[in-house]
Amino acid sequence: MKRRMIWLCLLALLFSGLQPAAGNGQAASVLIAGGTIIDGTGARRRLGDVRIAGDRIKEVGKLKPLPGERVIDAKGLIVAPGFIDVHNHSERGLASDPSAKSQILQGITTLAVGPDGGSPFPIAGYFEGLEKRRVAVNVAAFAGHATVRQRVMGQDFKRAATESEIAKMTELVEQAMLEGAVGLSTGLEYDIGNPATTEEVIALARVAARHGGIYMSHVRDEADLAFDAFREAIRIGREARLPVQISHIKLGTVGVWNKAGEVVKLIESARREGLDITADCYPYDAWASTITVLVPSRKHDDPVMVKKGLDDVGGGGNVLITSCSAHRDYEGKTLDDIARANGKTAVETYSQIVKDGGAGVVCKSMIESDIKTFYRQSWVMVASDGGIGTRHPRGAGTFPRVLGRYVREWKWLGLEDAVRKASSFPAHRLGLNDRGLIKPGLKADVVVFDPHQVIDRSTMTQPGLEPIGISYVFVNGVTVLDGGKLRDERPGKILRHSATAKRIG
Ligand SMILES: [Zn+2]
Repeated sequence: MKRRMIWLCLLALLFSGLQPAAGNGQAASVLIAGGTIIDGTGARRRLGDVRIAGDRIKEVGKLKPLPGERVIDAKGLIVAPGFIDVHNHSERGLASDPSAKSQILQGITTLAVGPDGGSPFPIAGYFEGLEKRRVAVNVAAFAGHATVRQRVMGQDFKRAATESEIAKMTELVEQAMLEGAVGLSTGLEYDIGNPATTEEVIALARVAARHGGIYMSHVRDEADLAFDAFREAIRIGREARLPVQISHIKLGTVGVWNKAGEVVKLIESARREGLDITADCYPYDAWASTITVLVPSRKHDDPVMVKKGLDDVGGGGNVLITSCSAHRDYEGKTLDDIARANGKTAVETYSQIVKDGGAGVVCKSMIESDIKTFYRQSWVMVASDGGIGTRHPRGAGTFPRVLGRYVREWKWLGLEDAVRKASSFPAHRLGLNDRGLIKPGLKADVVVFDPHQVIDRSTMTQPGLEPIGISYVFVNGVTVLDGGKLRDERPGKILRHSATAKRIG
């Protein structure tokens, strides 16, 4: 009897690598044949075949089909590691659309939620919910500073926290890190995060550091005081001794336009000092946020301050209202449009909207040459700041846009470089050692796309338009996108961070 059990176990082991990945009738192994492999390291492309068996990349090279194996003809197509989005706002979207269609169609196979200081909490419960529901993409999570801050301070958050409040916050960050968060995120420009002192953030970042996590920051100011804000992020990295990721790096006002070169100098000098500072950058010259960030002094009734805020972004014509619960009819119109229609000024319209409960806006306030400078830095990666249902074109278009516009049309960077910025680089940042490369033994998160076709189609007014040119997406070996068609598969895993994960620059 015992012997029979041993034999059964051995047989099970033998065949485990060949079993359908999710017991869903998909082929036991898949050969992606004749494609051009860009492996994610930044190395030059080469012709070759990739075999996926179970949830892993089994072999890479010149391969012959096995009996019964599914063969995908990838001639003329690029075979690359699935894209990893370190800054994604799908925490709720994954509940409404577990198929994560708008993310899969971009080639995203892993996304990290909880950026900008706002995260699910407790993270353990959130992860368990996703595991029960099952989702198409792999999910990691940050612990949000504003989330823990509000848990401790309630509605009384418009002030510096006391020592004992900070101590309570560190306990909550500790809990989140133990539950598998990849690090701490802050949104220091936003209402709840903004009153925090740098010391408060350092105290919390130290907890993330102890667990091998990173600090990811939507910095305190992306406008005239952006340089001070970048210096603050660097200081937090230095004093809390952990890697820093500057979220959606940008220069968002007229006063700092054309200064990307100076930002590069500042960050490179910190890197020379031995600090591990990196950034991500979404491929758009317009940001999306709440309307109140336009007036950093928060004097939303002061016509002088409001006028300055609007002038700083090039005027009310650059501010598009995307959501406004008090005035649904404003959605899709600019501040100037609304002002004209009501016989008011853009400044008056702004103050009225804030008084009535605020609005979500998309604001065109960056310039392409700064974005280009950022994209050309080896320490800048691609991230969307989007997610499922985002009312900004980045939610549906980020990764195809980089490949189609920045690489193919505008030639800002090479395709190999762009793929590295979307795969191995963010994988290392999140401490994911078994993803982000086309390499035998790694998890089979793979994207196959047409380098001549791939492009975004989403726009400011039609942010949900789907991109084209992504042909196949595999998540943990399961074909989720098959010849451009979404299959009803949910093979995504929860990627809990462990302190032992080795992190590489
Ligand atoms: Zn942000």
